[in-house]
Amino acid sequence: MVDADALLDLVRDPASTQDDLSAALDAGVHDGRSRRASIETVVHAATRAPFVGHTHPTAVVALLASVHAATAWEDHVYSDEAVVVGRSAFLPYASPGLDLGRAHLALTERERAEHGEVPALVLLGNHGIVVGGPTPAAVEAVTTMTVKGARVRAGAYAAGGLAPLPRASMAAFFARADIAARQRELGTARGAGR
Ligand SMILES: [Zn+2]
Repeated sequence: MVDADALLDLVRDPASTQDDLSAALDAGVHDGRSRRASIETVVHAATRAPFVGHTHPTAVVALLASVHAATAWEDHVYSDEAVVVGRSAFLPYASPGLDLGRAHLALTERERAEHGEVPALVLLGNHGIVVGGPTPAAVEAVTTMTVKGARVRAGAYAAGGLAPLPRASMAAFFARADIAARQRELGTARGAGR
């Protein structure tokens, strides 16, 4: 096991190098196999959710590699997405390794300071997504809905542009008891999103 706090201290230290990180991620030999943890270990530690899924779904990466990357997820575009995914944050491209670890850690610290939590969905420009949740099912639900959300956005852009859900009506939507109950059941998103 790699100690999560020690790993984050290393990422936070401006004097650290990629070689330092690679050495720290080298977890040694377990069950007769040499194991090396990846950058995902750093992302997981910074997210601090019980379960974290880092994936590169084609439909999502396509939008994250487009001119719309930074703004595509600024608003929700259909209500089920708002319920399941909730808030998201966008991180511009950083090269996988120490650079990405540093940028992602800074984002999680900023999100915690401003909102008290890291959003369930973090979008990595030209790369993929990081989804955190209380259970594997919650991580899978957010991931699947994000793939659908990417397809819907691509279709909307192709049809002339995105017409997001109005933010004012979303506040009223999330105040509804049935919607709050559904979110508790899913164990994923909380609140009205960004
Ligand atoms: Zn990746």
